[in-house]
Amino acid sequence: MKCRFCGKKAYIKLHHPKMYLCREHFMEYFERKVKRTIEKYRLLGKGERILVAVSGGKDSAVVSYVLKKLGYDIECLHINLGIGEYSAKSEEYTKKQSEMINSKLHIVRIKELLGAGIGELKTSRPTCSYCGITKRYIFNKFAHDNSFDVIVTGHNLDDEASFIFSNIMNWNTQYLAKQGPLLPGEGKFVKKVKPLYEVTEREVVAYALAVGIDYMLEECPYSRGATTLSYKEILNQMEEKRPGTKMNFVKGYLRKRYLFEQEVEKRELKECEVCGMPSSGEICSFCRVWRLKKPVELEVKEVKR
Ligand SMILES: [Zn+2]
Ligand SMILES: [Zn+2]
Repeated sequence: MKCRFCGKKAYIKLHHPKMYLCREHFMEYFERKVKRTIEKYRLLGKGERILVAVSGGKDSAVVSYVLKKLGYDIECLHINLGIGEYSAKSEEYTKKQSEMINSKLHIVRIKELLGAGIGELKTSRPTCSYCGITKRYIFNKFAHDNSFDVIVTGHNLDDEASFIFSNIMNWNTQYLAKQGPLLPGEGKFVKKVKPLYEVTEREVVAYALAVGIDYMLEECPYSRGATTLSYKEILNQMEEKRPGTKMNFVKGYLRKRYLFEQEVEKRELKECEVCGMPSSGEICSFCRVWRLKKPVELEVKEVKR
């Protein structure tokens, strides 16, 4: 099959909209789609300091590559979770990826910072639960302490669709009130955005391959058999029968999101007694899980400005 624009040999067949594209025209299509997402949802403002959360996987590698290509000045932050070989390899990938795009990479190593890696902490919480708390907290506090205006994550359309789907299946309505391509900042919470919101996982993989990005394929050893994977599979089956299903599902959700707003418990946020970051209780869940007596130090001394 041939590219619909130039007649060269097709690199990919897109299902929605249905068309064949050569490698160059696919790259152009993908980058334009990301650019449109940024403009449509006003994700990034002029002069904002941008921090990209990078894991070594394809999504964060692709979003940082495309942002750089679109002319944004970015810095990256990788959290080494301290999960043996898996984390060592992830860190190596983030180093290679930021060298490729010539962007500054910050690395926070959980084991050095907190004395234990994810999976080594004795707590009643499930590993993925306190890992999530830890990552969210560090990304936010790092951005806050080093005066970044926005945190970029690599979530793609499939991630969003399966997140919404699983939260509807479990009627976690309070989570459904505040999902979307942009989570506004508030107080010490830094704004979070998802420029890959409208591209599918398949398109992200094809783009990484097209531009030659090397990325971590292995899944975290603790996430094996995660239920979000089965939600993704179901959505993929539906997408195959009716191309556009995922996009329509997510766009429909954004239109109806206001219906879930009343489900949010309006709780006054206090400041954590240990670290001073926003918290619903006396001590925030991060300081509680890690049993901290003083706040973690995340300010980078040589940061410019
Ligand atoms: Zn072409
Ligand atoms: Zn705290």
